Amino acid sequence: MQILDGKKTANDIKKEIAIEVIALIKSGEKKPHLAAILVGSDGASETYVNAKVKACEKVGFNSSLVRFDSDVSEEELLAEINKINNNADIDGLIVQLPLPNHIDEMKVTETIFPSKDVDGFHPENIGRMALNLPTYLPATPAGILELLQRYHIETSGKHCVVVGRSNIVGLPMSILMAQKSYPGNCTVTLTHSRTQNLNEITKTADILIVALGKAEFVTADMLKEGVVIVDVGITRVKSEKTKSGWKLLGDVNFDSVKDKCSFITPVPGGVGPMTIAMLLKNTLISAKSKS
Ligand code: NDP
Repeated sequence: MQILDGKKTANDIKKEIAIEVIALIKSGEKKPHLAAILVGSDGASETYVNAKVKACEKVGFNSSLVRFDSDVSEEELLAEINKINNNADIDGLIVQLPLPNHIDEMKVTETIFPSKDVDGFHPENIGRMALNLPTYLPATPAGILELLQRYHIETSGKHCVVVGRSNIVGLPMSILMAQKSYPGNCTVTLTHSRTQNLNEITKTADILIVALGKAEFVTADMLKEGVVIVDVGITRVKSEKTKSGWKLLGDVNFDSVKDKCSFITPVPGGVGPMTIAMLLKNTLISAKSKS
């Protein structure tokens, strides 16, 4: 079994981005600028947003973080998004999800200008992705493609099983893996909570991409020998062994599957860092499109 090392690969990508930022500045352009909006004080969301802001510093981007209390009105939030949309200094905008129940997430996503939607969630960008047109690919699926590519994983003609059909991971992943390109050209099965006989389907996977949000759900008995596993899941559980008091678990039971798979992304250190690297890459694309 070989680890698909997302942490190392993401660091390589960040170094490549940092070099491009230096070149941009040398040619008289401004630094790329990513803005993030955080609503409320959910611990996991705080962690993710802080990691994104820190990553911006590392590659030489500017970043701004706008915080709102969890009782912010939808109107106020949309007004802030519009302000950022119209701020020429800002290249990319992300709104950390999930949002409180009184705010319509789709309305928020649709309010972000597609040209600044570096998370790749806007319906226009999802449509362009589905048609294989240039766009911002959703960051997590894009990170998975990049990882498969950099490890030269063969995908053509393979059976790719995706578990989970969310708009931000499973659904776009299934579209991208079926596209006529590399990585892609897979025969794809998209599964979800209503899928019957899931174990029988996962057993036929050459590539298994798991994004359902249930800690250690996938075990060795669900797999065929030699499968490539991409574990997207992140569940925070309390731990007395870590400094933070939390540890992260994936959707795959690593110890159970490690002797059966050919490649696997670890949690942490797999898809998570790649997601952030792709967010930076999308922001750089946005900045360069204006230069
Ligand atoms: P969602 O909760 O939006 O979607 C979960 C999906 O899993 C749904 O489609 C659901 O089916 C399906 N599902 C639930 N239970 C089962 C089951 N028993 N069998 C088969 N399918 C099932 O999750 P996300 O896609 O947003 O996130 C998934 C996980 O990935 C989470 O742990 C999240 O934290 C993590 N994540 C990690 C990222 C990273 O950068 N590493 C980025 C984004 C997410 P149905 O549609 O029928 O309800």
